[in-house]
Amino acid sequence: MSDVYIFPPPPRPAVKIEGDNRLFAVRRIFCVGRNYADHAREMGHDPDRELPFFFCKPADALVADGSTIPYPPQTKDLQHEVELVVALRQGGADIARENALEHVFGYGVGIDFTRRDLQQEAKDKKRPWDWGKGFDHSAPCSAIRQMTRHPSSGRITLAVNGQMRQEGDLAQMIWPVADVIAFISASMRLRAGDLIYTGTPAGVGPVSRGDVLSAEVAGVGNLTITIAT
Ligand code: MN
Repeated sequence: MSDVYIFPPPPRPAVKIEGDNRLFAVRRIFCVGRNYADHAREMGHDPDRELPFFFCKPADALVADGSTIPYPPQTKDLQHEVELVVALRQGGADIARENALEHVFGYGVGIDFTRRDLQQEAKDKKRPWDWGKGFDHSAPCSAIRQMTRHPSSGRITLAVNGQMRQEGDLAQMIWPVADVIAFISASMRLRAGDLIYTGTPAGVGPVSRGDVLSAEVAGVGNLTITIAT
């Protein structure tokens, strides 16, 4: 007998796949904190002294390319963070970095939207980051591109209303994708359908109502998101 629910189950979060009409069903969204040295420094930290750390966003915070999202409540400092997104086709625990890339289905371009004022308050008061990072519409992601080459270098950029705000290179990542997969899987079993937002280069900053954000990772894709007026 199949389960009967008291109301229809919520829709399954998913992202599109380039060149394939099927969808990539999303289980969890993992995010890496401070994975580019110049961004760690702009946030007041020493990148040479820390192991990577992680936080999560709810899968239903996903937003598709081309969407208009509302300016979120309870913040006066919504900020953009452009990131390479890794989509996993299979999971595991204690994945060795040498085998880690075999678990990758493809890559996308994401924005880790952050209510910076709420995140800063959480840091100051030693509280969790969820309210600063895991709010509704906080995880835009492009369609996933299946690639024969695993991108370890290439420009990663974000422009607001045509003005360049973030410019970096994937080669600047302190912990490359294989290390990130190994680290996460040492703490939690990864599974097919997991997305990993791999951190942002320097240049994060505020966005306003009406802004149009254009994110790009060379060879991976583009993402355009509008903030509603
Ligand atoms: Mn981030």
